[in-house]
Amino acid sequence: KLHNTVLELKGNIRVFCRVRPLLPEDGVNTEPKVFSYPTALEVLGRGIDLIQNVQKHSFTFDKVFMPDASQEEVFVEISQLVQSALDGYKVCIFAYGQTGSGKTYTMMGRPGSPDQKGLIPRSLEQIFKTKQSLQQQGWKYDMQVSMLEIYNETIRDLLPANRSCSDMSRTENGVAGKQYTIKHDANGNTVVSDLTIVDVRSSREVSYLLDQAAQSRSVGKTQMNEESSRSHFVFTMRISGYNESTDQQVQGVLNLIDLAGSERLSRSGATGDRLKETQAINKSLSSLSDVIFALAKKEDHVPFRNSKLTYLLQPCLGGDSKTLMVVNVSPDPSSVGESLCSLRFAARVN
Ligand code: ADP
Ligand code: MG
Repeated sequence: KLHNTVLELKGNIRVFCRVRPLLPEDGVNTEPKVFSYPTALEVLGRGIDLIQNVQKHSFTFDKVFMPDASQEEVFVEISQLVQSALDGYKVCIFAYGQTGSGKTYTMMGRPGSPDQKGLIPRSLEQIFKTKQSLQQQGWKYDMQVSMLEIYNETIRDLLPANRSCSDMSRTENGVAGKQYTIKHDANGNTVVSDLTIVDVRSSREVSYLLDQAAQSRSVGKTQMNEESSRSHFVFTMRISGYNESTDQQVQGVLNLIDLAGSERLSRSGATGDRLKETQAINKSLSSLSDVIFALAKKEDHVPFRNSKLTYLLQPCLGGDSKTLMVVNVSPDPSSVGESLCSLRFAARVN
């Protein structure tokens, strides 16, 4: 591995927690006498206390971001990790949390607001900037991206080449007839059959593809407008570097994942599609936690095959790869139960 990326990692897995600000739509009266914020959540350094029914639950993470933390402040803490993908590491950064907790804000940012750009656009800008400066040291890089979503344990390509065809028929598997089966090749890379892979040369090209992917996500979502929060979004960038003068070679991968909402099944009782959906989400999120837990504990058996998500990311989760989980929580007191679940999830993999 090159350029001596130094990261103080506990077994290469780190967990950050980010508390989003209260929003008008939370409907919380922030008038101190009605609800004294932050009664439900208290942050002190790397510690976070959640108070539910006068019971206090305390957690410690590698980093806790207060509601006023800017996108820039969050990015500063992950930029080294992003950088290491150029040095040949395999990196996964996950956003975890209930719907509305700030996962997509953390990953993508707020559309049309450049200073609120999220981790994905900031990472891409950094990668292409660093690529340019490494060129002066004789490095040549090839970058390829793919974007997919996993919905009900089924992969959908978000960049199919024929996406613009108006007669394109979509099935549950995405474009009709495509299989999207996951395999691992002899070099330990994931290969998804039929998945579109695009060569990219600039962060602007990738931004364009991200826009296309966002459009793809909203196509074919007839029954459920909130469907994007029910699927995992996986952005993958493969980075191959070669230095002619030194004959060195690196192969890095950067995976940025906006996970499906972690909220529990409502007590009113979901049925049919909604039940199937929730079961698929629960299954993949709990397999992700099982996998990270097994890796952290250096267990012999790591249950990668229990979900599409973990099987897809298998080569980027074990070995000397690097993983960061950003657990997003809402400060809304009505979310306190879900926040506790999220913090417990995070504490388990921490
Ligand atoms: P999720 O993807 O987890 O469902 P979103 O990222 O869509 O949640 O966030 C829900 C709402 O909260 C959005 O309107 C988003 O812009 C806003 N939001 C989330 N995090 C922040 C933050 N740190 N600062 C300002 N607004 C935020
Ligand atoms: Mg979202």
